[in-house]
Amino acid sequence: MQMKTMWLVLLVPAVAPLCPGQARKSVFVITDGEGVAGICRQEQTEPQDPELRQLLTGEVNAAVDGFLAGGADEVIVWDGHDGSRTLSAATIHPKAKLVIGNIGPMMTLDRGYTAVAFVGQHSMAGVRAGIMAHSYNSLGIQNMLLNGKRVGEIETRTALAGSFGIPVIFLSGDRAAARELHDIVPDAVTAEVKEGLARYSCISLSAAAARDLIREKAAQAARQIGSIKPYRITGPVTLEIEYTTRNSLPIGAETEPGREVVDDRTIRVHGKDLVEAWTRYEGR
Ligand SMILES: [Zn+2]
Repeated sequence: MQMKTMWLVLLVPAVAPLCPGQARKSVFVITDGEGVAGICRQEQTEPQDPELRQLLTGEVNAAVDGFLAGGADEVIVWDGHDGSRTLSAATIHPKAKLVIGNIGPMMTLDRGYTAVAFVGQHSMAGVRAGIMAHSYNSLGIQNMLLNGKRVGEIETRTALAGSFGIPVIFLSGDRAAARELHDIVPDAVTAEVKEGLARYSCISLSAAAARDLIREKAAQAARQIGSIKPYRITGPVTLEIEYTTRNSLPIGAETEPGREVVDDRTIRVHGKDLVEAWTRYEGR
């Protein structure tokens, strides 16, 4: 008995840390409101709306369950919807960590997550039948173009994660959002929790069915960590922001580095790469 115990004591600590492929897997989850099942009207997206809080929390916690079941060691959730006021430490999954507040243009990606995921995500501005489709700011931004291509939160954030070598592995949201991610990351796993009929009309799964789907797909996504590749945009980047008629360019836009004023409500931001252009735009 004594000998067997000694062998265990010697073997376990010696083998575990040296085993390759055993790096700690952390998933960074970006949440939003407009892509949550059952959320189809603008007033439902008020960040402290009790129903939104309940529905989003349920989806986030299902995703956390799935990622952990699929092999993730750590799940870090950023409350990314409208001022970071929707999620609460009181109701978030006990094993998740919650990030609250403005986290800057690089979204803490420099902390070296293994993978990024979206929960409650909507499609970019102007997408046909995208439920509450918009790019960052529904009242302030008409269109956003990255090297001439129309983009929204999904592509800019997926490409930013790619700049840090991090793949986006999962998205839950409406059908239009899932398509938008698949266009750039065909292997990403998606959970379509509702289908848009028009901007404010949808066919939605129940909260219970959406959570079951998200749990299952998130587990599948976590098991595919390592095979889903980061999405990268290489080379110089021009970001063009067309504001809405009720918005305007920032004061002094003409004099900031890398900026080019196109007209009263359009600006171009240049950078040697995406990180520089995005920092110049978002970090002003
Ligand atoms: Zn959004």
